[in-house]
Order: sequence, then structure tokens, then C-alpha cells
Amino acid sequence: MKLSDKEIERYSRQIVLDEIGFEGQQKIKNSTVTVVGIGGLGSPIAQQLVAMGIGKIRIVDRDVVEISNLHRQVLYGDDDIGLSKAEAAYYRLKKINPQVNIEPLTLSINDDTVDKVVSGSNVVIDGLDSVSARYTINRACVKLKIPYIFGSAIVTTGSVTTIIPNKTACLECFQPSLKDEEMPKCGTEGVHPSILTTISSVQVSETIKIIIGKEPNLANKLFLADIKKLDYDKITIIKQNRCKVCGNNVDLSIKETKRKLIEDICGREGKSVHIISPKKDLNINLNDLNKIIERRQFKIIRKGELGTTIKYNEQITISIVSSGVSIIVGALEERRALEIFSEIIIDELKINPEDIDNEFNKLVQFN
Ligand SMILES: [Zn+2]
Repeated sequence: MKLSDKEIERYSRQIVLDEIGFEGQQKIKNSTVTVVGIGGLGSPIAQQLVAMGIGKIRIVDRDVVEISNLHRQVLYGDDDIGLSKAEAAYYRLKKINPQVNIEPLTLSINDDTVDKVVSGSNVVIDGLDSVSARYTINRACVKLKIPYIFGSAIVTTGSVTTIIPNKTACLECFQPSLKDEEMPKCGTEGVHPSILTTISSVQVSETIKIIIGKEPNLANKLFLADIKKLDYDKITIIKQNRCKVCGNNVDLSIKETKRKLIEDICGREGKSVHIISPKKDLNINLNDLNKIIERRQFKIIRKGELGTTIKYNEQITISIVSSGVSIIVGALEERRALEIFSEIIIDELKINPEDIDNEFNKLVQFN
């Protein structure tokens, strides 16, 4: 597809750059990227790529907006609290540039969903906060030969590398065997918004280089930044022949990580948070859900097209997004969270337990 006169005007200040140019802009227009996680890194990444005129962007996040996101997750405002991030980001990005094709997905990243998340992308860009989800994305990108721009940030520090399947070191080559339970969390450690915009900008410039066919700066290099004293560095990383993802004779058709049906994540305002991720995209009919909410007289905190947040009772809130992923805040135990999920999703919405988890009925025995 050619650029229209209006597009040439709109993007003129980047078309004039040697770095991008007219042909580069056309390639940007004809490209599809996926941003996994649209929080602290994903928000500024998506904002830049949409403003720059990317053809299609898929934005993937299972979470809902909460007040403690707003200091850094620049796509969201007060009105979005309780709304699914994918939906809130969609509205904001459409306002920035209505010409861009935006596909919001509320899926959780795991072995069962990852092919749907990354397939068809020219580049996949990391805005995640979980190492297990990153390993899943890394493995799928190596398997499907899609470049993956790794990025992470915490406190005042961050890092980026560009992973070109079978050419450069992959995530497992230079950062194997990390566990989410052992990682610092931004909920407890904090994160400076300036490191997020720094790291996200490097990720975007690497993405654009790949799209327009230039050599990325961070192939086999890890960019490191700390805004505390403004230290920057680039270190060499090396592809490992014995890597369990990109090494010799690895069978990537075998599923590696096991999806967790329920996760107990770091609390919000001192309350426990449980996330339940069904194995399939349940494509919940939000109209049906809203009828149930009305009949049961649950108080609605925020209702959207891709998800709804309600008060289950005085202590517990539940957010249900279209994929069926449910976030339960304030249930003291896993068992209680599963009970509430089961009550709404299985008893009321009549979803087949087998579509949630092969073992669901075994796991949920409440008597
Ligand atoms: Zn590797």
C-alpha cells in the first residue's frame, strides 16, 4: 500500500530522516507488530509506534487498569480504572492515530495462547513483567522465526536486546533459569517512569530498524541503563550452542512451560490478588455477563466492551475480561478465589469446565 498525500504530510518529519525515509515509512505502514504487556513499557512503546504510523499493532494484556499504574502507564487516566488495559489502550491509541489497525487481546501469555499472540507479526516487542511469560514468548518467536525485542525495567535500571531467531543470542542464552518468585517486583521495589520511557524508546528504534531492513544496534548486545547516575553501557552476549531454545537439535514443538490456572500475585493496597487463566480463549459474551451482574445486583465498578469489574461483596472485587481471565482481589485463599470464579463462569455463564482446565473439576471440589 502506497502512502497518501495526507500521510506524507503527517509523517513528514520522520520521512525526511536518513534513518527512515520515504521507503522506510512505507515499510512501517505495511508492517504488523505485537506489543505483549501494555503497562509501564508497553504503553510508551505502543504510543510511539501508533503515532509513527505502524500499519497494524496487536496489543496484548490480561490485566485491568488500577490507580497505582497511572504514574507511569501513559495510555491510561482516572476514567480507565477497572477497565481492561487492552480496551483502554485501544481507545487512547485510536485517538492518537485513527488510521492504524489496532487489535486488542485480553489473553494471558502461556503455551496454549502464545502462537495466537505472536503469529503474523513482523516484530514482537516486550512489555512484560513476568519472566515465565517472557520465556514463553522467546520460545515461540524462535520457533516461528519472528524477531523479539526484549526489554525490562525496575527501580532506575533497565535493559534491552534484539533477538533475531537463529542469528543472535536468545533470552535463554543470556538469562536462563530465572524464576518469577525470585524476581524483584515493581509493586514492592518501585519503578521510575523515566527509565521506562528510556528503555521503551530504545525498543522502538530497534523495532523500526528491523522493519525497514537496517541492522539493529542490539543484535548480540545487551543495552544497560541506569538513570540514577545516567550510566549507559552495551555488553556483548553470546549465542549458546547448548541453549535449550535456540541450541542445536532442539525440538520446539514440545511444550515447555506449564500454564498456571491460578496465580497468587503481589497484593494491591495490602489485599491478595489471584489471577485465573483458562487454557482457551473463552470469548465471554459480555452482554450475558452484564445480565447476570444485574440480576445478582452486583455493584459495577467499571463496565467495558472487553471486560467488567464488579464488587462481589464488601471485601472482594472481580474483573472478568473477554478471554475469561479473571482477577480476584481480596479473596483470602486460592480456594475462595476459585469458588467465586466457578460460581460466575461455570454456574452462571455455563462455560464448560474442560475449556478452563482439564483438571478443573478435580481442582474445584468445594464440599
Ligand atoms: Zn538461545
